[in-house]
Amino acid sequence: MRAVRVQGPGVIEVGDVPEPDAGSSVLVRVGHVGICGTDVKILAGKIPVDYPRIMGHEMVGEVVAAPPESPYHAGTRVLVDPGVACGWCHMCRAGRFNICVNGGLLGRDVDGVFTEYAVVPFNRLILVPPSISDKASGVLQVLGTCVHAVKTLDPFPGQVAAVIGLGVAGQLITQLLRLRGMTVVGITRSEWKRELATTTGTHYTASPDQAADVLAEVSSGRGPDVVVEAVGTEATLARAIELVGTGGEVLVYGTLTGGETGLPYYQLYHKELTLHNPRAAVVGDYADGVDLTASGTLTLEPIVTHELGLEEAEKAFELVHDPSSLKVLMRVG
Ligand SMILES: [Zn+2]
Ligand SMILES: [Zn+2]
Repeated sequence: MRAVRVQGPGVIEVGDVPEPDAGSSVLVRVGHVGICGTDVKILAGKIPVDYPRIMGHEMVGEVVAAPPESPYHAGTRVLVDPGVACGWCHMCRAGRFNICVNGGLLGRDVDGVFTEYAVVPFNRLILVPPSISDKASGVLQVLGTCVHAVKTLDPFPGQVAAVIGLGVAGQLITQLLRLRGMTVVGITRSEWKRELATTTGTHYTASPDQAADVLAEVSSGRGPDVVVEAVGTEATLARAIELVGTGGEVLVYGTLTGGETGLPYYQLYHKELTLHNPRAAVVGDYADGVDLTASGTLTLEPIVTHELGLEEAEKAFELVHDPSSLKVLMRVG
């Protein structure tokens, strides 16, 4: 079968690999795979992996064969929870499989899903009902991590939330915070991403230059109760700390790698802030995201901007950096 592998920093190759053996797990034919910031960082050599590594962890596919004791059968459309957990460490025993101390991620710590078939234990599959379009299904994995992140907050109706960065996750988080009863302000430089957020129900949007004024207006001068960092840079985290009101909460969704500016540590103390730093998701978060999508409560389709074949992997990775793109999917099956 065909697979997209990273051979070394910056070197991507589409080639043949042996088909996996399902054993007592479920054999899934890969349908859509999404390209994520993690994949981009793996390809760039910023996240170290063993080479060659089949990348990819965002996948929806169709069950080919499943053990009889599983609730799945051939033809069932499923989302894959890409987290690998040991099941016996102190975090797994607390139900916190997303931070298993022996765990890992498909496509990073073990071979991933930029390929034709995947073998997955059935307790890491989530049924995707027919009411969810194929296109929308391509962002369900990211949605699960956004659901997980938003569950770390306990907002009161009418509180103000600012979301810095309206990429795929920022778009989904603004929708979820609105559903939690918050007044949401989406912040990005990109005009078309602000328009998309408005279309899907975000109350206010602002460019980074306008953000402080708009937030002051919306929060009667107090500053937002919650600021979500959904870019993944130290500069935007610093901005989140500066923008949030005293006593507020900062949700660090973006994965920070480099430290390029000094964080405003004094404000962290002076405002007595609470920072949330959620990681990945547990299987129930994915199921909640799927339910919200299936009921038509969330709008996912416009977040998928490009769909390419697996053989066009190199081009797909280039598109991720294009300002016209949000989620780039590769269609396999
Ligand atoms: Zn991802
Ligand atoms: Zn564990």
